Amino acid sequence: MITDRIDAITAIASAYQGTVLPAPRSVKIELTGRCNYACSICARSMVLRDQKDMPRALFEGLLREMRQEGVEEIGLFYLGESFLCRWLEEAIAFAKKTAAILYVFLTTNGSLAKPDRMEACFRAGLDSLKFSFNYADEAQFEEIARVKPKFYRDMVDNIRHARRARDKVFDESGHRCGLYASYIEYDGEQRERMISALAEIDGCVDQIYALPLYSQADLVTETETKSGWARCGIRCRAGPCSPRGTLPGTANCRRAASITTAASTWATSPARGSWKRGTPSGSRTCAPRI
Ligand code: SF4
Repeated sequence: MITDRIDAITAIASAYQGTVLPAPRSVKIELTGRCNYACSICARSMVLRDQKDMPRALFEGLLREMRQEGVEEIGLFYLGESFLCRWLEEAIAFAKKTAAILYVFLTTNGSLAKPDRMEACFRAGLDSLKFSFNYADEAQFEEIARVKPKFYRDMVDNIRHARRARDKVFDESGHRCGLYASYIEYDGEQRERMISALAEIDGCVDQIYALPLYSQADLVTETETKSGWARCGIRCRAGPCSPRGTLPGTANCRRAASITTAASTWATSPARGSWKRGTPSGSRTCAPRI
């Protein structure tokens, strides 16, 4: 289950509780800061930094160095939609086959994850594909993603095709990518509101779980707070599939000790160099999107 894996990586092992830290086990690399949605819940939409693609040579160099330092898992996303990156499939293949990264995972909004591209990602060796499925219907999609409501159907159709593509690659090659979907519990009513939407993708992914609304650097808007949406700070993850004890509100930043991000605008990222062995704690960034 993906939630077991998340728990294993986000728990803070004693090795990460000192002042000089080993390389993190898991790193997210933002292949692109661009996205075709403009979600109201997302700091990306505020255009607080340049939103470009990471230079490919930089990506490949980073991966080689990270693996040498002991990084085991790579997420090929942070903010931004990685299916916008034309060389996504090649990035996956490089991570798995050249850099020998043990586990490569990806989160997508699903809009551009057409069956042929998903199949290419699975063939390249992707270990986990998760859909951020945060919209109960077309109306909520338009309100939150702030794009035309007709694109909602494309996203759902892509998710519904994922399993067929995954199973085809498994039958032909023996490689099996995990398929997951998460949704955000904006408030106490969202779970009920999602029932029909989740029924549409039931059986198309291996696991569906709920997440709380993370506040990215406290940038969730006043409007959303006033509408009653609850920002994370009490729970780390929610949902019937993933019961867990309450964590303190600082959990997101503390767990960054074992999860680090490298943004596509690398030169300005505070994460620069932070995965290096022996890095003083406190120089790593938070990772609000799992
Ligand atoms: S939440 Fe995801 S899909 Fe929405 S704008 Fe941010 S990166 Fe794009």
